[in-house]
Amino acid sequence: MRLAVRGGLVVTERETRRADVIVAGERIEAVLDPGAGAAEEEIAAHGLLVLPGVVDAHVHVNEPGRAEWEGWRAATRGAAAGGVTTVADMPLNSLPPTLDGAAFDAKRAFAEREAIVDFALWGGLVGDDPAPLRELRGRGVVGVKAFMCPSGVDEFAHLDPDALEPALHAAAAAGLLVAVHAEDEDAVAHATRELRAAGRRDPAAWEPSRPIPAEVRAIECLGRAARIGGATVHVVHASNAGAVDAAARCRIAGARMTIETCPHYLTFDASDLGRIGPPLKCAPPVRTSAERERLWRSVREGAVDLVASDHSPCPRELKERGDIWDVWGGVAGVQFTLAALLTEGVHRRGLGESALARLLAGAPARLLGIADRKGAIRAGLDADLALVDPEREWTVTARELEARNGVSAYLGRRFRGKVVRTIVRGRTVYRDGEVVADGGAARFIAREGSS
Ligand SMILES: [Zn+2]
Repeated sequence: MRLAVRGGLVVTERETRRADVIVAGERIEAVLDPGAGAAEEEIAAHGLLVLPGVVDAHVHVNEPGRAEWEGWRAATRGAAAGGVTTVADMPLNSLPPTLDGAAFDAKRAFAEREAIVDFALWGGLVGDDPAPLRELRGRGVVGVKAFMCPSGVDEFAHLDPDALEPALHAAAAAGLLVAVHAEDEDAVAHATRELRAAGRRDPAAWEPSRPIPAEVRAIECLGRAARIGGATVHVVHASNAGAVDAAARCRIAGARMTIETCPHYLTFDASDLGRIGPPLKCAPPVRTSAERERLWRSVREGAVDLVASDHSPCPRELKERGDIWDVWGGVAGVQFTLAALLTEGVHRRGLGESALARLLAGAPARLLGIADRKGAIRAGLDADLALVDPEREWTVTARELEARNGVSAYLGRRFRGKVVRTIVRGRTVYRDGEVVADGGAARFIAREGSS
């Protein structure tokens, strides 16, 4: 069975050109001049961008164990609606956390039953015991995640400065990439104590409680530990350009380090915390509008390796209890990464379409070791495509939002650029506002060479 996506502007990391994508079964067979090639089924893509499906390197699905927070079906419905064709799930907020082979197997089974888009899995790094790391590596995790400050859940320990280097060494010995939440624990604790002592309980207090130097200091510490431990590290969710600059300095000093940012740091600013409140609480926090613009410069200059959603939903009650210190942190955004980058990047700040293909698909696929199957529109790769109307303006409504608990900082947000169709391995999973797939067809995507 052959499918032709005809007449669209096909976006690669090098160029945007009018072309037809010919799909045979689950794979891209060829990218041809318009009108060439024969197919039984045709999709008209005139006026649309044909992008590689988004590879979201950072989502929290929370199932098994906290399915009431989101779960595989709900999270991947949002992914499908957002042009995301592969999600890489973080090891924590599910129960058990993905810390060994048995926990991995349990999560994979849930995802294979429920997910609508393809998925990869991160394991966890909470110490230097090599045995569970070897199990995770053997099962094909894309890497392991570690925290340099408390993770927010009791069952996932963080690494204090003394534990960091031996843990990184153990991960390196097991051949595992390490994704790191880099905020300095002491700096955050100190700033938080002062604000609380001053009686602050309002959402605007969240930003200064986790100051930029806490990120910079942690990244510098991580760079040293990574060099000594021989590890390859990836800094998740950098909120500001100072963090990006710190990563660049670590690389110059010899560390193997990449860095990501998230759409919420590129879309919102600290003044939105007062307006939106808890749905926008995340760690590190969104920064001032001046910092947001500096971060955009870093993105445009190519200093940020990739953009991932850090999708992290929770029940409504956890966003509504007590004050800003009590509410759960996390932004539900897997559905909006592409729309946010089109709106804020391509339309507002001159980001090239090829940069989109790199930041949202090519670079994450390479980081995760899945670029032999995912992340580009090229013959031989999986036919994962996001068809986008670049000019369509729309507002995120409750009806539009795919999230189990209906909470998202993006509710009410106006976007220019909308996903109109999402295709996973040749199969349409989302079309014109409706998710049109059920769970069960998704595939686990192992890191290349892991088994
Ligand atoms: Zn996260």
